[in-house]
Amino acid sequence: MSTTDITQEIQTVARTHVVVLGAGYAGAMAANRLRRNPAVDVTVVNPQPFFVQRIRLHQFIARTGEPQVGFDDVLGDGLDVVVDTATRIDAGARRVHLASGTHLDYDYVIYAIGSRLHLPPIPGAAEHALSASDWAAAQQLRERVDALDAGAPVVVVGGGLTGVELAGELAERGFAVTLAGGGVVAPSVGERGHRATLRQLERLGVDVLEDARVTGVEASRVIVETGGRELVLSSAATVFATGFQAPELAADSGLTTDGIGRLQTDESLTSVDDARIVGAGDAVAVEGVTLRMSCQAAQPLGAQAAEAVLARIAGDRPIPVDQAFVAQCTSIGRHAATLQFTRRDDSPARAVVTGRLAALAKELVCRGTVWNIRREAAHPGAFGWLRGREVTAEREPVLQ
Ligand SMILES: Cc1cc2nc3c(=O)[nH]c(=O)nc-3n(C[C@H](O)[C@H](O)[C@H](O)COP(=O)(O)OP(=O)(O)OC[C@H]3O[C@@H](n4cnc5c(N)ncnc54)[C@H](O)[C@@H]3O)c2cc1C
Repeated sequence: MSTTDITQEIQTVARTHVVVLGAGYAGAMAANRLRRNPAVDVTVVNPQPFFVQRIRLHQFIARTGEPQVGFDDVLGDGLDVVVDTATRIDAGARRVHLASGTHLDYDYVIYAIGSRLHLPPIPGAAEHALSASDWAAAQQLRERVDALDAGAPVVVVGGGLTGVELAGELAERGFAVTLAGGGVVAPSVGERGHRATLRQLERLGVDVLEDARVTGVEASRVIVETGGRELVLSSAATVFATGFQAPELAADSGLTTDGIGRLQTDESLTSVDDARIVGAGDAVAVEGVTLRMSCQAAQPLGAQAAEAVLARIAGDRPIPVDQAFVAQCTSIGRHAATLQFTRRDDSPARAVVTGRLAALAKELVCRGTVWNIRREAAHPGAFGWLRGREVTAEREPVLQ
């Protein structure tokens, strides 16, 4: 064997194959960052042949924004993309099985398959609930909404930030929207942010029933309990925004998950079952760390998942997750928003910006998330994030 042959053989043996499951905010960021090590081959598996800006899905439904971005725009050169869906991870064989019947063998997996709607067990919800939680659900909802007449009644169920964004966007499109808050609308913002959110929703004509709890859903009606009485609301489209849960892939693969199906990892994002499986984004529950399921959290998690894999390849110990929140920015139609600044632990700080300025900030945030991934594609390792999770001041009362 010549010296050249030996060198080539060493290079071949030394290459590492990382399969990234999911090309959302976390997965795309992770895949791009892995390119810091030129000896890593990366295969990205994603059901859609494009990147979906999930934070624009309410706009997709109201036809005010385009969530699709071509992979050639956000994924770096040299990444392999497989348009498919992972159906099982065989950790023992280090193999990912795909819906197409094929499989991929790996040295490491980054598990970044996001989340989807958490549907509460309300009679009729499974049959009639629509949602904007993921790409497939959003397409179904848009089809329904497109077929409605202007002024048709739409009920949004769930007063969290996603419910607020949906209610605002659909009201601005001309539907008669009722928001059944289920307790408190926008519970994660402070009192000022809460009042501003209600005011801006009302300006768009949204009928906010803040305490209304849905007890039943039918084809064209929603039954709610509000103020101690039962109310029947007409609804041509009933849109659930009742939180997120993770897909079943981890559980179906025999991996440890939390109560909402997220892959359970240690503080360095490594699966508690297998050091070759590293998680990121909505799909993971990190030991000792509470992170709101958000693209704000997903991008730093994606970068840190890549760093964890690169550390293991180099024979180093991956370091614990360290990231912090900055703000909660909720659009309310295209011309208003609530920008609630937060402490690092995501609790609301005093500063709140509302109206057009906040709407502009929200648009910049949306663009910024894609810009971050694009920049990481061009310059692997360039993405930086705010660190330090500690609470920096006394907590203000938070409406829950
Ligand atoms: C309407 C709406 C508005 C939102 N607004 C905001 C906001 O303003 N700010 C904010 O921070 N967050 C917001 N969020 C939440 C945010 O979108 C998510 O927290 C974020 O997308 C999580 O990123 P991720 O990469 O973990 O998952 P995702 O972005 O969901 O990406 C996961 C990817 O994995 C793919 N996938 C799924 N299953 C498989 C499989 N089996 N095999 C392979 N691939 C798979 C999916 O198709 C997807 O492409 C919003 C969500 C919605 C629905």
